[in-house]
Amino acid sequence: MIKIHDKYFKPFISASEIDLALTQMATAISEDLAGEIPVFIGVLNGSFMVVSDFVKKYKTPCEVAFVKLASYEGMSSTAEVQRLIGLNIDLKNRHVVILEDIIDTGNTLQEIYTIFQNEGVQSLRIATLFYKPEAFNKDLKIHYIGIEIPDKFIVGYGLDYDGLGRNLPEVYQLKNTEPMINIVLFGKPGAGKGTQADFLKEKYKLIHISTGDVFRFNMKNNTDLGVLAKSYIEKGELVPDEVTINMLQAEVEKNRDANGFIFDGFPRTVAQAQALDAFLEEKNMEISGTLALEANDDILISRLLERGKTSGRADDQDENKIRIRFEEYNEKTAPLIDFYKAQNKFHSINGIGTIEEISARLNAVVDQL
Ligand code: AMP
Repeated sequence: MIKIHDKYFKPFISASEIDLALTQMATAISEDLAGEIPVFIGVLNGSFMVVSDFVKKYKTPCEVAFVKLASYEGMSSTAEVQRLIGLNIDLKNRHVVILEDIIDTGNTLQEIYTIFQNEGVQSLRIATLFYKPEAFNKDLKIHYIGIEIPDKFIVGYGLDYDGLGRNLPEVYQLKNTEPMINIVLFGKPGAGKGTQADFLKEKYKLIHISTGDVFRFNMKNNTDLGVLAKSYIEKGELVPDEVTINMLQAEVEKNRDANGFIFDGFPRTVAQAQALDAFLEEKNMEISGTLALEANDDILISRLLERGKTSGRADDQDENKIRIRFEEYNEKTAPLIDFYKAQNKFHSINGIGTIEEISARLNAVVDQL
């Protein structure tokens, strides 16, 4: 997801989908105009990218021009009149193709079409990369359509939102929901992070990333990552930062249009927290809050041993390994409390009580984020 000015946009049409649509349009037009030298006319500003990429795919000779619609006040009336500027080719008896980035209501197109019709052209066609059938309300034939899209505001690939976004190589769609919620679920092993993540995920429609679960999935499938992680996990030690950070980033990348994320079991070291902040910043995202589930060691150990009876997790079945995990936490993970307190993002939650009670405490904090 990206932010432009005050609004959030999510990925909508990829650069490769655009490329394919333009290739198909170029093929169709060159077949229809075989033997002719058409004039492609782009309507500025939005169409500069479409025209540039389109003509590179047009394999036979053609001419290219750009026009812009400008409003001016008529001499004898105060009514606004639209006028084309920039046209420097005589279009008489030419095959003209108006090349648009997007056709929305068709208002601009109608103006341009009428002006060109009066130029004595031999044929006049309309081609557009994006077309909004629900918004179009003119009685005009559109000869070539790249991609039909719903009546939603889009940005990128030449299209702007209040001046910005034209340089994006792919197209984004306005997101009507609230800004993302990105939560770090923090706490010692056994604090109930996984259980509570399931509730939060449902309630706030978030993507839950548990690094422990991803490692276990890899271990089960015997991947290179799994084999590497196993040697640490079985001893109750942390997997090296670099490995964990790369894995976490890949998981975020897989869910590019998420409403937000629950990071469960990550970060577990200051280096991981710094890497997470830097990575999120690159994506115009940030941690909304760190929610720490607090409970004392005796309760946690008995919870973990209980879980070990059914979970099959070797690291839950041996009290020594559990103690090593706690030591790892005290030494490497606990410093994150100060890290997030310094950012004013740390929230401590009493992790003792029924699942519903703890869940209600978490929701109360998330609702304030
Ligand atoms: P968990 O399911 O979160 O208790 O994680 C189980 C084990 O996976 C931990 O004891 C670590 O060995 C490893 N692990 C999970 N997350 C991380 C992390 N962020 N950094 C390093 N190791 C991790």
